[in-house]
Amino acid sequence: MKAGVLALQGAFREHVEVLDALGADVVEVRVPEHVNGIDALFLPGGESTTVGKLLASSDLGEPLRARLADGLPAFGTCAGLILLARDVEDEHGDAYPGPLAALDCTVARNAYGRQRESFEAMLTVAGLDGTFPGVFIRSPVVTAVGRSVEVLATHAGTPVLLRQGRVWAAAFHPELSGDLRLHQRFLNEVSS
Ligand code: GLN
Repeated sequence: MKAGVLALQGAFREHVEVLDALGADVVEVRVPEHVNGIDALFLPGGESTTVGKLLASSDLGEPLRARLADGLPAFGTCAGLILLARDVEDEHGDAYPGPLAALDCTVARNAYGRQRESFEAMLTVAGLDGTFPGVFIRSPVVTAVGRSVEVLATHAGTPVLLRQGRVWAAAFHPELSGDLRLHQRFLNEVSS
C-alpha cells in the first residue's frame, strides 16, 4: 500500500509520521508524477484556499480529480475535508464547489465561532471502542450530507467524521491526537 500525502501546505508531516509509524509506504505528493503511483491519498489540515490555489498552480488538481473519480481512496482532515467537499460556504456567505469535490457534503469554513475556534472533545466513533480525542482547529462545520454519506461521529449534533465509500473526511485532526486508530482503520478498509 503506497499511501500518498498531499504535501503542498499545512500539517502534512504529521500524517507522514503517523503513516510511517503504521508501517505504510509513504509518498509525499507534490507533482503530477506522484499521483499515479499511490493507492490512497491523505489530505492534511492547513489553509484550504491556499491549497486550492497550489493544486491549480502545481497541475495536481486535474490528475487528482481524475483518480478520485476513478475510486482512489482518500482521507481528508479539516482543510482536507474542505478540499474534498462538494460544496463550500465561506465566512462571507459565498458558496463555491470544493476543489476536488469527491464527497457529497456541504461545509461552512471557520464556522465554529470565535469562542470555539479551537477545542478538544472526546468523540464516540462508530466501530471504535471507547472514545477518540477530537482536536478541532478552526474547523469547518458540516452543514449537509448526501444520502450515500455515512456519519461515523458527531459533536454537539453536527457530523464530524464522514465516510462515502472509500472517501473519508474528518472536521478534526486525528493526525494531531496521538491516536492512530482512524488512520489504521482507513488503511485496513481500503487495502482489503
Ligand atoms: N480554517 C482552515 C480552512 O478553512 C482549516 C483549518 C485546519 O485545517 N486546521 O482552510
